[in-house]
Amino acid sequence: MTESGKTKCQICGCEISEENSYVFKGAVLCEDCHMEETHPVITCDPKAVRSAKVLSQSDRPSGKDSLDDLQKALYKFVTDKGKVTLQEICAEFNLSPVRAQNQLAILRHLELIKGKKEADNTYIVPF
Ligand SMILES: [Zn+2]
Repeated sequence: MTESGKTKCQICGCEISEENSYVFKGAVLCEDCHMEETHPVITCDPKAVRSAKVLSQSDRPSGKDSLDDLQKALYKFVTDKGKVTLQEICAEFNLSPVRAQNQLAILRHLELIKGKKEADNTYIVPF
């Protein structure tokens, strides 16, 4: 396939000579990438899996216990007021609209609050 005995690593794209190339799962790799592919950093992986599990557990709509202080305060604000707008939340908690939306998305996901359209306004109301 290559004329000069040179080929390219399919991961990092560096040029490698044939004697320095490794074939791994059908891909031509340089020595470095081959090392990384065949010796994955195992110490990192269990952690990643564990934190993913923790995340999906706190993701369950089991309720308010998994909320942080800001989210609890947001939830209280919504339930106290009955219905609020995003602008009110931004003003009350000094949040940017994006941050407020992100926090509200979490609460919505936990089915603690929901959006409600009234006339031209969207309100946030207790679920
Ligand atoms: Zn490489």
